[in-house]
Amino acid sequence: MLQARVDKNLCVGCRLCIELCPAVFVRSEDGTAYSQLTDIPAEERQSCQEAADACPVDAIKVAEVPATITFDVKTRK
Ligand code: SF4
Repeated sequence: MLQARVDKNLCVGCRLCIELCPAVFVRSEDGTAYSQLTDIPAEERQSCQEAADACPVDAIKVAEVPATITFDVKTRK
């Protein structure tokens, strides 16, 4: 799955990523941006990458990551 992460220590809150890809990036209370999705859908991938490329401080990283596997916890009887 594709994930986008914003480094809050680098983000200057210019909102460019939010304008370019509002389905993924939103503004937090402290003015920095963050990704609200854990798996970027196919239709948002291009605009998400454009936002990462446009970030003036290179605060956005977009990468494929392995999907998380979860197990149901069952107790033995
Ligand atoms: S484009 Fe970069 S600096 Fe601007 S709000 Fe988004 S992450 Fe922050």
